[in-house]
Amino acid sequence: MIIESQSNATALIRDVLPEACRDTALNWIGGEWRHSESKDSFITINPTTGRPLYDIAMAGEAEVEAAVAAGAEAQKHWWKSDGQDRARVLRHIGDAIRSHSALLGLLDTLDAGRPIRDTRSRDSERAARLFEFFAGMTDRLRGANIPVQPGRLNFTQLEPYGVVAGISPWNYPLTNAAGKIAPALATGNAIVLKPAEDSPLSALLLASIADEAGLPAGLLNVVNGLGNVTGEALIRNPQISKVSFTGSTDVGRHIGSVCGEALKSVTLELGGKSAFIVFDDADLDRAADALVFSAFGNGGQTCTAATRLFLSKKTTPTFLDAVMKRLSKLQIGDPLDPETHVGPLISDKQMKRVQGYIDTAIDDGAQAIDLKSIAVPEDGYFIKPVIFQNVRPDMRIAQEEVFGPLLSVFEFDDEDEVVELANATAYGLAGTAWTADVHRATRLARSLKAGLVWINTVHSLHPGSPYGGFKQSGQGLEMGQEAIQQLMKSKSIWIEEGPWQSPWGDLGE
Ligand code: NAD
Repeated sequence: MIIESQSNATALIRDVLPEACRDTALNWIGGEWRHSESKDSFITINPTTGRPLYDIAMAGEAEVEAAVAAGAEAQKHWWKSDGQDRARVLRHIGDAIRSHSALLGLLDTLDAGRPIRDTRSRDSERAARLFEFFAGMTDRLRGANIPVQPGRLNFTQLEPYGVVAGISPWNYPLTNAAGKIAPALATGNAIVLKPAEDSPLSALLLASIADEAGLPAGLLNVVNGLGNVTGEALIRNPQISKVSFTGSTDVGRHIGSVCGEALKSVTLELGGKSAFIVFDDADLDRAADALVFSAFGNGGQTCTAATRLFLSKKTTPTFLDAVMKRLSKLQIGDPLDPETHVGPLISDKQMKRVQGYIDTAIDDGAQAIDLKSIAVPEDGYFIKPVIFQNVRPDMRIAQEEVFGPLLSVFEFDDEDEVVELANATAYGLAGTAWTADVHRATRLARSLKAGLVWINTVHSLHPGSPYGGFKQSGQGLEMGQEAIQQLMKSKSIWIEEGPWQSPWGDLGE
């Protein structure tokens, strides 16, 4: 047994991944581990130490083609099988995720720097529940019987696309992967998943777990690689007619245009710039806990993270004091330590990007509150949280998605003013408000322009509840019943009850 420490990170991963991935993490295609024909590979970096972590095979066009072909073949049989049999397989995968939660969690902690307190419990549990929820859907994929003219029967039938391309980001590797795989399989599709190049490992273990749990070969394929190589080959593959993408708005726009040109269906879950609003009458302690969790949890690398804090003027000093008190207890450091709340950012590139936003905000006139009590390690990609005051709504820090632990504070006098400010960005993923006034809560739930609105709570999610963004935050909904519309086509079937009568009469007479 190897001691779990960052100095052993590569050895730990070698121990956890399937035997075939001992030297290089391979692609999972058609139920087999495959290197790339070209033997190209890339090395991931441990975000906690900045040192090389693992060698990953880079899938090119040949591997993508093989994965899609394997998916197409397997899907034919999968869709013909009884929905209850498909459900049983998905439930087995859910159980297997639970029994492998320690290993899956360890991989995400080493690969993405997500704290072990989250990966081993919350993330694995959420991934298992995604499979369980969608297992409940497989034998309920109903169409409708539509009343039409007498003498004709018309009904709709739902049909899967075939092979879905799933492309996921690095911030919550396991749940991002499960969120693509479970609904695609439940709706009778096969899937080729391309996980983010910065954190591909847990998706590979998940593929192996799913295989052991009885998922027929070819239904789930995982291809590793860079977005502009492997991702591009996947979205352009002619046999792919559905792309489900989660990632940045810029890449989403590109993928949307490639899919638009090729007339492929696409679901886009993109970036955010979420507002967090606190009124005078709110439970300030609960709101402060929620703000610190939302803005700084996962190093601010959450698409729905609170990035703009709106305080009713009277609450500002009390609320900021409550936030400071909590921040002084925040432990930022080695994500393998069970006490750690926040680990590193994912990469050097991301750390430099966040630092760039800090510099720009200060140049633009924002003032950073001194968070003296917080210490962060010097090695790795750690960055200290920054809270900015004196932010104008038109500054870049108030408008653009940073994806780091930066928070801008604004003050407001009344509800109309704050709603206008909160809605004044190009994004519309999530919005949170804290108030004890039920009337105001109801008005806010309506007036915030975001796909998710949380009142007196934050980051509440459930696989049964639809998830998606407004404006530049995305198109289409994932999760819930709504996932069916994204992953299945509806066919309208007409049957004539008697001999068909031509409107032109019988021209043969
Ligand atoms: P990203 O857009 O850089 O990459 C996401 C994925 O797309 C990666 O797997 C990447 O390899 C792939 N990709 C990149 N270029 C591609 C191309 N040309 N063709 C095909 N695939 C390509 O995003 P990221 O930096 O990994 O993740 C952070 C972003 O994800 C943030 O903007 C965040 O808000 C967003 N996000 C959104 C949600 C949501 O549900 N709305 C959830 C998590 C993250």
